[in-house]
Amino acid sequence: MNDSTLDELDATLDEICDAGLWKVENPLDSPQGGHIVSHGEQLVNFCSNNYLGLADHSAVVAAAKHSLDRWGFGMASVRFISGTQSQHLDLEAALTDFLGTEASVLFPSCFDANGAVFETLLDDRDAVISDELNHASIIDGIRLSKAARHRYHNRDMADLELKLQATAGARRRLIVTDGVFSMDGYVAPLDEIVALARRYDAMVMVDDSHAAGFVGRRGAGTPELFGVTDDVDILTGTLGKALGGASGGYVSGRSPVVELLRQRGRPYLFSNSVPPVVVAGSLAALEIVTSPDGDARRAQLAANAARLREGLTGLGFELLPGAHPIIPVMIPEAPEAASLATALRRQGVAVTAFVYPVVPLGRSRIRVQVSAAHTEEDIAICLGAFAGALV
Ligand SMILES: *Cc1c(COP(=O)(O)O)cnc(C)c1O
Repeated sequence: MNDSTLDELDATLDEICDAGLWKVENPLDSPQGGHIVSHGEQLVNFCSNNYLGLADHSAVVAAAKHSLDRWGFGMASVRFISGTQSQHLDLEAALTDFLGTEASVLFPSCFDANGAVFETLLDDRDAVISDELNHASIIDGIRLSKAARHRYHNRDMADLELKLQATAGARRRLIVTDGVFSMDGYVAPLDEIVALARRYDAMVMVDDSHAAGFVGRRGAGTPELFGVTDDVDILTGTLGKALGGASGGYVSGRSPVVELLRQRGRPYLFSNSVPPVVVAGSLAALEIVTSPDGDARRAQLAANAARLREGLTGLGFELLPGAHPIIPVMIPEAPEAASLATALRRQGVAVTAFVYPVVPLGRSRIRVQVSAAHTEEDIAICLGAFAGALV
């Protein structure tokens, strides 16, 4: 690397820093959980995707430990060469059962799952119609395909309909949306989306990463919430959030879609299998999710979210409306949002401030994320810290 390239990279790093966009990693000295240790401090953790509190659940950890002896450490192979153990197939079957779909296929991550779908299903005769706030992995996945790209305003059904009308000549049309939008905690209106899809003969894809495990009566996600499971053709999601939180993703849905992804999906064909220990732990997590304990955890999560939303509103904070455990506390100006996050951390409450460009200018926020691992006392501590930051 020559000196001028090094100088350019340094200049880019300086720009990031000067713009106040530098991301700092705060290492944990503990497992992920409702309580964590970081920089020698005990914190109540309100900034993880550990929605059901399964990331350090004893049964999940025990299954993972046992798996090392039973199944070894690594696969050293992709799935179709020698990287499929029977437990990979068991996990795929368990996901299909849980989600109420026809078939499922694992990927190294949901990022990879979204990277596989568009290129495999669509070419230059086709069109994809994507919500403007969709996750980065959907945006990147769309870029890999040759399909015509259309974006509609966030959850705006009139705009979606215009895009459907504008793409009437396409061979295939795929509407794609996050089930829950991660910065706002807003749920996509799947009932209206599938109705439009039916009227215009389009396919529907939902990325349910921020819903799988806890949204819907059984936790099967936003399709279950809206009663449209059979109308969602492609459902992607992650094992890295509520479902144990380790890693791995999936595509679930219509059988031919799943089969074609096994044959043609590049991240499936050319990247290593999900590690045995993660498969075993995720199977144990899914068992909890589908048990009465799972119902209890979803109830606890909903109660915690409701209690915190009510308390923060009572303190005079402006929240984005909803019931999701993502609770955005709006602090319009970036410096105030950042200093509130710092003040809360000093009081033992870990939260993250999101500022431009992750959210629009003037729409900075503290994103509080609730977990079923939180107790009533933890919620009270969080409210106390917010109250303390007001004075
Ligand atoms: C977290 C997330 C992903 C990425 O999941 P990984 O399994 O960590 O790659 C993809 N899509 C959405 C909507 C997410 O929230």
